[in-house]
Amino acid sequence: MKEQIIVMGGGIIGLSCALELQRRGYQAVVVETQRCGGQASGAAAGMLAPYSENVEGPDAFFQLCRDSLLLYPQWQQTVRELSGLSFEYTDSGSLYVAYHAADLLALEGRLLWQRTHGSTGEIIEGSALRQMEPLLTKEAIAALYTPEESHIYAPHYVSALERACVGLGVHIFDSLERLEILKWQETAVVRAADGRTFEGDQLLVCSGAWAQHLAETFHMHIPVYPIRGQICAYEAAAKPVKHMVFCNQGYLVGKANGTLVCGASEDVAGYDTTVTDKGIGRLRNWNKQLFPFLSQQTPFHSWAGLRPATQDGFPLIGPAPDTNRVVLAVGHYRNGILLSPATALLAADLIANKQQQAYGGAFAADRFN
Ligand SMILES: Cc1cc2nc3c(=O)[nH]c(=O)nc-3n(C[C@H](O)[C@H](O)[C@H](O)COP(=O)(O)OP(=O)(O)OC[C@H]3O[C@@H](n4cnc5c(N)ncnc54)[C@H](O)[C@@H]3O)c2cc1C
Repeated sequence: MKEQIIVMGGGIIGLSCALELQRRGYQAVVVETQRCGGQASGAAAGMLAPYSENVEGPDAFFQLCRDSLLLYPQWQQTVRELSGLSFEYTDSGSLYVAYHAADLLALEGRLLWQRTHGSTGEIIEGSALRQMEPLLTKEAIAALYTPEESHIYAPHYVSALERACVGLGVHIFDSLERLEILKWQETAVVRAADGRTFEGDQLLVCSGAWAQHLAETFHMHIPVYPIRGQICAYEAAAKPVKHMVFCNQGYLVGKANGTLVCGASEDVAGYDTTVTDKGIGRLRNWNKQLFPFLSQQTPFHSWAGLRPATQDGFPLIGPAPDTNRVVLAVGHYRNGILLSPATALLAADLIANKQQQAYGGAFAADRFN
């Protein structure tokens, strides 16, 4: 009989792990309290941007991000084929904009180390920058162009991932409302609010910003907290933005459906996913500084999601202490869409063999104990 793995949480991390486990011959069972993809994963801008998101240096987190980016072309193709669904995946490249000479110096410093780690980026200035992004503000003096970065349309991608999982034979149970862990040491048993129980050989925890609630159960520190990201979209079909455009306030991404997605705030608001006038107002203010044509426009849609932040900024991908039945894959904060393929491979390796050797143990789940 196949070894059965209970995957708690049907966001992009849980679904990606389930897909990989099923491919490796396990029976994955996803149990989701709400709707698969209904939380952070469905709210994301979908950027796959390890270089723009990692400005300090090539630490283990950057390495994981970059490894995951390299997995994406093949990984998303597998999801496309298994699901039979289409979704946007665009190799747009990115521009990280500088307004002042001091910003430019920082971009040049970043480019130096990034070029030794797979980037073919360059600094673009003056008329060359206007040619690449004609509607960008004239206040921008230069930008760091990183051709390697891409983006997907996250809500469609997560739906395709769910369909791919089902097609491969993953069992998915959603809308379970509440899940209680009854056993996790000799075997894994969880019970839903309606009394149904799910039994497996191992438990893989992928409950995103909600993971901290399991700390007491597993007798470990799980410092994962929700950080709300408010985000909005403009109808911008007539005025395309070709690249992902970053500045130190946030980013804009032009999607193939003609919308321009602009994000995102980082607020501490507990598990509240409402959008505030202040939050969206701040986005609108710097959006129009970056792209003056946006001062004539109002976002047609705004929403928010809860990023799973951790105390040290690194995700927790590893076994829980004192058991060989529980693995965690949580805390992907701003980069869970990007990190999903690499996390799935790591988590599946850990389910097979609890040794935490990859990336020098930087993501060990028990590192806060
Ligand atoms: C506005 C915004 C923009 C973003 N943009 C990007 C981006 O451009 N690129 C990028 O890489 N990342 C981005 N992110 C981050 C990314 O969305 C997250 O890192 C990622 O979605 C985390 O995935 P997850 O599966 O861990 O969490 P989630 O998608 O939140 O999934 C966790 C799931 O677990 C379920 N759950 C909770 N408790 C339990 C339980 N006890 N049992 C079972 N299920 C449970 C929840 O209902 C939820 O469905 C963005 C996030 C936000 C909010």
